[in-house]
Amino acid sequence: MGSLQEPSSVLRESLITELAHSLKASKLLTPASEGYAEKVKRWADSAEKQAGAIMLATSATDISTTLLFCQKYSIDLATRGGGHSTSGASSSEGGIVIDLSEMRNVTVNPVDKTVTAQGGCLWEDVDKAAGQHGLATVGGTVNHTGIGGLTLGGGYGWLCGQHGLTIDNLLSVKMVLANGDIVRSSESENTDLFWGIRGAGHSLGVVTEFTYRAHDQPNPVWAGQLLFTPDKLESVIEFGNHIAAVSKGEAAAIMGFCAPPPVHAPLVLAVVFYNGTEEQALAFYRPLLDASPVVKMVSMIPYRSLNSLLNPVAGHGGRKVSKGAVYAQPVRPTFFRSLYDDFSTFLTEVPDAAGSMLAFEIYATDKICQVSNTAMAFANRGSYGNNLIMLQWGQKENDAACRAWVRVMAERFKGEMERGKREGDVRLLVEGVGEYLNSDGLGQSGKVVFGQNYERLVELKGKYDPGNVFAKSHLGASLVKGKV
Ligand SMILES: Cc1cc2nc3c(=O)[nH]c(=O)nc-3n(C[C@H](O)[C@H](O)[C@H](O)COP(=O)(O)OP(=O)(O)OC[C@H]3O[C@@H](n4cnc5c(N)ncnc54)[C@H](O)[C@@H]3O)c2cc1C
Repeated sequence: MGSLQEPSSVLRESLITELAHSLKASKLLTPASEGYAEKVKRWADSAEKQAGAIMLATSATDISTTLLFCQKYSIDLATRGGGHSTSGASSSEGGIVIDLSEMRNVTVNPVDKTVTAQGGCLWEDVDKAAGQHGLATVGGTVNHTGIGGLTLGGGYGWLCGQHGLTIDNLLSVKMVLANGDIVRSSESENTDLFWGIRGAGHSLGVVTEFTYRAHDQPNPVWAGQLLFTPDKLESVIEFGNHIAAVSKGEAAAIMGFCAPPPVHAPLVLAVVFYNGTEEQALAFYRPLLDASPVVKMVSMIPYRSLNSLLNPVAGHGGRKVSKGAVYAQPVRPTFFRSLYDDFSTFLTEVPDAAGSMLAFEIYATDKICQVSNTAMAFANRGSYGNNLIMLQWGQKENDAACRAWVRVMAERFKGEMERGKREGDVRLLVEGVGEYLNSDGLGQSGKVVFGQNYERLVELKGKYDPGNVFAKSHLGASLVKGKV
């Protein structure tokens, strides 16, 4: 399978006019249009590219027209959901972007307990609409993230210990294929496609509608942020290990390091969650609360507000790159401290990167592991936790240093897993691929992130997107580069 021929770097005016005339309801923005500068922005400045035109989609039919148009004229194409990938996968230099940001309707069926959301929704749209009916589904922990990219790559969130991944709660989709067909896919319709989109959906089409199973969530949750000075580091991660050992999903946390303003001194971060009463939460978290946090902002909040808690530390703008890794539980406190030392040293060398963070996501994994790694394209299920290495900096001249450091840290996590395996932790021998593709902004190969599902996915790609129109995803990019 090959890629399309080299896309034209400058979209000719006549082509723009032709496409604009073929669209039924959607607008086409060019660099001269009002609103273009806003729509070309991405969560990370470094992922922004100057599109030749932006198709502000409002219907599946117009998406279909645009897909066929791009193939007819060999025009580079990208699909933009929430715009949060740091790899640039939702941007195009000179080509056409199918921008879904105008497609944000959500409908809730409180009787069936389902939520149907258009492909350009952000998690705040879903959380709010479901919350009005005392329902919730497994969404991302930062509510301005797009449901599109997050769902199609798997989806972890505060509720995944109780209800599995976002894809485990995905019931069906409506999507536009590379050949322009508008189809539905579920466990009973186009089932091979449904297998593929749950993990590798970015490379198989444009999803215009997601239907999720929702769960009763009438009670508020206890959640918030704690910050500790580094001398408390061992107590914090030991409590994190306790959460991992005993939680059935009701308790979860994100722990790691950040350097908040105004001082930007590296601190130990614990974002905490408990799905129960305040009394239960306080009793459960007592040892952590007693470890004298210097910042303590925790309270009972409605679930629909939960995923806005991290918004202030995950704002738009700045140059960014993210990379995923995994860790085995329990985390060795000495390893945790060595990472803190690395983080501190790096921020001393590159103070411009003070907005960065290193995180351990601590979710109960039993529910996630009830589904096998071959049941869907997603292949990162295991009794381990995800790490997020998220760098943010301001100056372009620091790009190389920041990207290099992310790679070094990813190797550090890998080394720690290898150490665990050598020392005979059998749990590590029956696991998934060990990297969450949605956290990878550095072009990890398809073979690595899909593991044993890779060959089946290549076949599926041959059936549904033989010209590799969706070439910017992990699978698509691997096929372009011949990098399996
Ligand atoms: C601040 C922040 C917090 C995050 N938190 C979480 C988290 O809690 N849990 C988690 O699992 N992940 C999380 N992530 C990772 C997140 O899943 C990915 O960044 C994801 O790609 C974001 O999707 P998006 O639609 O916003 O991004 P985009 O950049 O718009 O899209 C990413 C990819 O998905 C494709 N795409 C988007 N929408 C569609 C669609 N409707 N149809 C077809 N293709 C589409 C794009 O073409 C692109 O290839 C987080 C990321 C950030 C930056």
